[in-house]
Amino acid sequence: MQDCIFCRIAAKEIPAQAVYEDDIVMAFPDIKPMAPVHVLIIPKKHISSLLDITSEDVPVIEYAVKAAQQIAKSMGLAEKGFRIVVNTGNDGGQTVHHLHWHVLGGRPMSWPPG
Ligand code: AMP
Ligand code: ZN
Repeated sequence: MQDCIFCRIAAKEIPAQAVYEDDIVMAFPDIKPMAPVHVLIIPKKHISSLLDITSEDVPVIEYAVKAAQQIAKSMGLAEKGFRIVVNTGNDGGQTVHHLHWHVLGGRPMSWPPG
């Protein structure tokens, strides 16, 4: 997916400071942070949205959860807590059509979300 910004980050064509990386997923800071800690976890494989995950992608979920756990611990979020968001489609506010998990922390989160 040449025109997909997150595929290009995964392929190292666009630089990003990985805070977590393995064979399946990569995590890097959001360019426009909405909290003191705002990291995006992406599968290296192009999957357009949560709706496009198939059963063969199950390891992606497993690795993303593992990455979130690692990030929470390494970035000091484990004690106070954090939020994971997967915006999906127009109403969900998805702007990049490559599946990603937002990991937000370092401040109290409000509810309901905007
Ligand atoms: P969403 O609106 O849920 O699709 O989230 C896409 C996120 O990607 C936004 O929070 C953007 O700030 C972020 N973003 C876009 N381009 C980059 C980039 N090159 N590096 C890091 N984050 C990015
Ligand atoms: Zn992609």
